[in-house]
Parts: sequence; C-alpha cells; structure tokens
Amino acid sequence: MPRGLVPRRPAKSGRQDTVRPSRPRTPPRGSSGSLPTALRTGPKPGPAARRNSARSAKGYNPLEPKRIAEILKGLDELYPDVTCALTHRSAWELLVATILSAQSTDVNVNRVTPELFRKYPTVQDFAALEPEQLEPDIRSTGFFRNKAKSVVGAAKRIVQAFGGEVPGEMEQLLTLPGVARKTANVVLGTWFQKAVGIVVDTHVTRISRRLELTRNTDPPKIEQDLMKVIPQEKWILFAHQLIWHGRKLCLARAPRCAECRLENLCHAADKTWSTVEIHRSARP
Ligand code: SF4
Repeated sequence: MPRGLVPRRPAKSGRQDTVRPSRPRTPPRGSSGSLPTALRTGPKPGPAARRNSARSAKGYNPLEPKRIAEILKGLDELYPDVTCALTHRSAWELLVATILSAQSTDVNVNRVTPELFRKYPTVQDFAALEPEQLEPDIRSTGFFRNKAKSVVGAAKRIVQAFGGEVPGEMEQLLTLPGVARKTANVVLGTWFQKAVGIVVDTHVTRISRRLELTRNTDPPKIEQDLMKVIPQEKWILFAHQLIWHGRKLCLARAPRCAECRLENLCHAADKTWSTVEIHRSARP
C-alpha cells in the first residue's frame, strides 16, 4: 500500500501510540485538494476518538529536545550549506538589499541592486541623496517611498554616527532608520557571523508555527521562543534553512508534504499529506 494512505501508528512510545485516524480536513469547495483519498474520506471520529485524541495530546511536547534535534537533523540533510540569497559584496549592500526585500522577493531585489550599486557605489553616495532621487531606482521592489526614506536615512546615520561603516552591534543597528530586529539579524548573522538572534521573516514564522515551535504570531515573540529551543550555534543556519524550506517545499498555500523530510515530525493543520495525526493548533 502506498505510503501515506493510512495514518502511521508508531508503536512503542509517545502520544502516537493511541492515535486514531482523525477526521481529514475538507478540501476547499471546487478543489480536489491534494490529500490522499483515504485521508480525505475517512470516518468522522466519534466522542471516544475525540477523547482519545485529547488524551494523547496531553502527553505530547513539541519542544522536546529529541524532537528538536530530529528537526535540525532533517534540515541539515535537506539544506546543508544554505546562506542568504540576497546578492551583496559588503555589509552596506546587504543592509540595503535586506531593506528592499521587505514585501518583495530576493529574486526581484537581486534584479535591482547590481545597477543600484553601480550608480551609487558607496554609502556616502546614498547619504548625499534625497529619498525622492532614489525612488525610481527601487520602484519595482514595492513600497518604494518608505524604502527610499529608510535607505537614505540609514546611509546618513551611518556616515554621521559610525564613520561610514555599518555597525556590527544589534543596539547600534537598531538606531538606523528602517532597521528592526529582522534586518539587523540578517546583517549580523550573514555578514558579521554573529548569532545575536534569529531572523524571523514570513517563512520562519509560518514553518515555526506549523512545526509547533511557537504559538505566537508576533515576530519578536517568535524569535524569543525559537531562541529558547534552538541551540545558539545553530541560530544563523536554522533561519536560512527555514527560509529555503519555505521557498522549496513548505510553501504557504500548498506545502509539498509528500516530499518533505520532516513530514513524520510535522502535525500541521494545513498539511497536504500526512502519516501522523494532525493538530488543529499547528497552523500557519
Ligand atoms: S510536512 Fe508539510 S507542512 Fe510540515 S514542514 Fe514539511 S512541507 Fe511543511
């Protein structure tokens, strides 16, 4: 029987000992969905099954170190040496590219930045601009007025307060216009190789919630949750791995769960394929 047609029931220990096939989620009207037929049409669980499920959920700890270690091992196998996809040659270029990447894609930003840095090669060149002068060059990345203000404002402050060098400390980076913890973590982790925090973008948010590493939706709180369970030496790579996982497999709308190395560890409510019990609380 092909894998995935019947929810797996691992035998020896843990909450899945008592798992019964839970009621599959109904695919959206007009869509066949991508769950296997057996999971789409399974019987509605009765009161006993619901009690059973509640009992098994009680003993389950998604933050158990062994589970975290397995997740990290799976990510290492899937994405052994990934890094930031934004093209850059300096801390300043990475900072600008990260600011431009908000609400945009790295591919889109990488189309814009080579010409941008050819036109304005140094941070001093940016500091000499008015935001309106920069707007046409970054228009295609979206939200270009705010981004132009942030980039020019950051350049002016770096020139005036930091001698033209991007600072390598979190507190100093956070004083730059348009720079919050996510951008600061990208620059610190990718350029300075400092694991001060964990980058939390849309991919990290979604996958952390699907994997039940956090229940929060607020990026600073998610970051704090992740910092408690992920070993610090993994903080930089872990964020890159989740970002790549979010692009390749754990897509926002239709995650490719049947191909996912983490499938047997993931109980996400919106999985498209499952061999384990689904947890309604594990949603993006
Ligand atoms: S099993 Fe699916 S939802 Fe879970 S991490 Fe993998 S791709 Fe994402």
